[in-house]
Amino acid sequence: MKAVVYSGAYDVAVREVPDPRIEDPQDVIIQVTTTNICGSDLHMYEGRTNVEQGKVLGHENMGVVAEAGPAVKNFRPGDRVSVPFNVACGTCFNCTHGWTSFCTRTNPTEGVDGGAYGYASMGPYAGGQAEYLRVPFADFNLLALPQGTEYERDFTMLSDIFPTAYFGTDLAGVSPGDTVVVYGAGPVGLLAVHSAWLRGAARVFCVDMHGDRLSIAEKLGATPVSIAAGDPAEQVLDSTRGAGADCGVEAVGYQAHEPSGQERPELVLDWLVRSVRPTGRLGVIGVYLPQDPGAATQSAKDGRIGFDFGRLFQKGQALGTGQCPVKRYNEKLRDLIIAGRATPSAIVSHELPLTEAPAAYAKFDKRVDGYTKVILHPAAA
Ligand SMILES: [Zn+2]
Ligand SMILES: [Zn+2]
Repeated sequence: MKAVVYSGAYDVAVREVPDPRIEDPQDVIIQVTTTNICGSDLHMYEGRTNVEQGKVLGHENMGVVAEAGPAVKNFRPGDRVSVPFNVACGTCFNCTHGWTSFCTRTNPTEGVDGGAYGYASMGPYAGGQAEYLRVPFADFNLLALPQGTEYERDFTMLSDIFPTAYFGTDLAGVSPGDTVVVYGAGPVGLLAVHSAWLRGAARVFCVDMHGDRLSIAEKLGATPVSIAAGDPAEQVLDSTRGAGADCGVEAVGYQAHEPSGQERPELVLDWLVRSVRPTGRLGVIGVYLPQDPGAATQSAKDGRIGFDFGRLFQKGQALGTGQCPVKRYNEKLRDLIIAGRATPSAIVSHELPLTEAPAAYAKFDKRVDGYTKVILHPAAA
């Protein structure tokens, strides 16, 4: 089959690789109908992880069951499914307590809990930027979708970024009437804006440096805050009579940087702490790593992020972090899509065949105007 493989920094290629096969009776093979390029794929693309060459990328996958192992009870060939990016066993302590993102069985990497498809340090699982994908523990992991092709562009956001964005607003405790500040108008930040409205927010600020992305945030109902116009925390404080937002979501991560390009991994965390009121909750869903050999400073290389923890303590804020347990949210978010209340497809900028992936990675990585969210269709010519 054809698949997108990591071939070194700034280099992905579409190659022929062996078809996946059933390795365990609980496995399913799906024919991938849609698979997305994620902002977190860019950390690998830029050579900022230890991902091995030849790895098939892609953790945002959906498709149709092609083959089901003999122990699979709930899915049959032809069923349309969404695949959470978490590879979870369903029976360990963390899985049974709702934390599929911290499954203790599916990731053999020393000291790391939680598996994922096609990702550095997240286990041996091939990604789904390919024609076919093997899904372990299929009965537990797969989400059933209505048959057909309706809502394909919305449902493809259920594998990661819509639940992840919603998780950010859950960690932040967004409640009816709240004023919310979201840092980052990339795909996850934009869907955090969308999620904040779903949870009843009264007002949502969205902070970014890219005008094209801020204009999408504005279309989604957010008040855009441009870093180019000055300190964003100051702007949020000015707009709330000095009080700050009730809660905040961080959707940027460890490659946060000044408009000049200078990386400062503490930059957005500092703004977040300053722009949220005392005792407000902060949901940090941007990725941070315990080791980052490509970082600009020694402390950042060691994963030590020197943000304003003193002010966070003084303000009595609560900080929630980590990867999203997709299964906690994807079923209800699917039903909001079907009910017409949620339209995460609003952020899709490009729909391309798999063969266009290398060019799409390059353009998405450069944040070329208009490259917001790329979805790939492996069956398209
Ligand atoms: Zn993703
Ligand atoms: Zn588990």
